[in-house]
Amino acid sequence: MNLTEFEKEFSTEEQCREYLLKLRYEDGVNICPKCGGSKSWLVNKTLFECSDCGHQRSVIAGTIYQDTHKPLTLWFRAIWYVTSGKNGTSALGLQQILGLGSYRTAWTWLHKLRRAMVRPGRDKLMGKIEVDEAYFGAPGKGGKRGRGSENKVLVAIAVEINDKKVGRIRMAVIDSASSENLHNFVEMTCEKGSTIITDGWSGYNGLSEKGYLQETTKRKPDDADDTLLPHVHTVISLLKRWLLGTLQGSCSKEHIGYYLDEYTFRFNRRKSKSRGMLFYRLLQNAVQIAPVTYADIIAD
Ligand SMILES: [Zn+2]
Repeated sequence: MNLTEFEKEFSTEEQCREYLLKLRYEDGVNICPKCGGSKSWLVNKTLFECSDCGHQRSVIAGTIYQDTHKPLTLWFRAIWYVTSGKNGTSALGLQQILGLGSYRTAWTWLHKLRRAMVRPGRDKLMGKIEVDEAYFGAPGKGGKRGRGSENKVLVAIAVEINDKKVGRIRMAVIDSASSENLHNFVEMTCEKGSTIITDGWSGYNGLSEKGYLQETTKRKPDDADDTLLPHVHTVISLLKRWLLGTLQGSCSKEHIGYYLDEYTFRFNRRKSKSRGMLFYRLLQNAVQIAPVTYADIIAD
């Protein structure tokens, strides 16, 4: 979909409302889920009432749009803007392009949309998967490096290998590289029966008892760090560059998990064929996840 097509499809409140209704109720607006009646009327911008039994259906209740005072067309434009940019977007950029009065609104919307980037119940990775951890964020004062560093955010990363190339990815912030955390991460992101390839860190020991095949790469004396697990290290360096470029490296500890979700969402759809689906996928996810408020987001 290009901009012209987008504007044709989603230029009015009615078009956006109809689309959300279709996403939320398979039969669309016409059939009342309670009495089967086929007539309804619009109570307000987003609420329908069945003419036969009075049953009301809201298009936005229970979604990220809940309680919004802004037009749906503006939300659709935000989603379009967020998904059509190749690398991502800043709150300031979103505020300017939509002409929003407040930076806070743009910032809150972006965070809401990031939460919608993870589809509830998404598939796990399968096959050959490289797993490693890496530190992200501003360098700390202590200069302590490696698995004991306390000033940065530790992220576990899993990368599927397809035909020796990088496939889909999954990431999560973890407290430490403990066996418990790493095993949980693998179980949450990788199908049993997959081959998990890691370095020799003892935290990965025991995965074979949990239904995985385990491969450990051993370092030769003159090996550089990134030759050991090349696919996962490619992703780590791309992610570092993205965090620097898109967010000027300023991702707070509290929010980094959501930035990782955004990166994962974009990365897994980076091929041109699926890039066009980004917009529809985000619209779809946005009606499936529970509403969050600005207060929720900053308390997080
Ligand atoms: Zn009814």
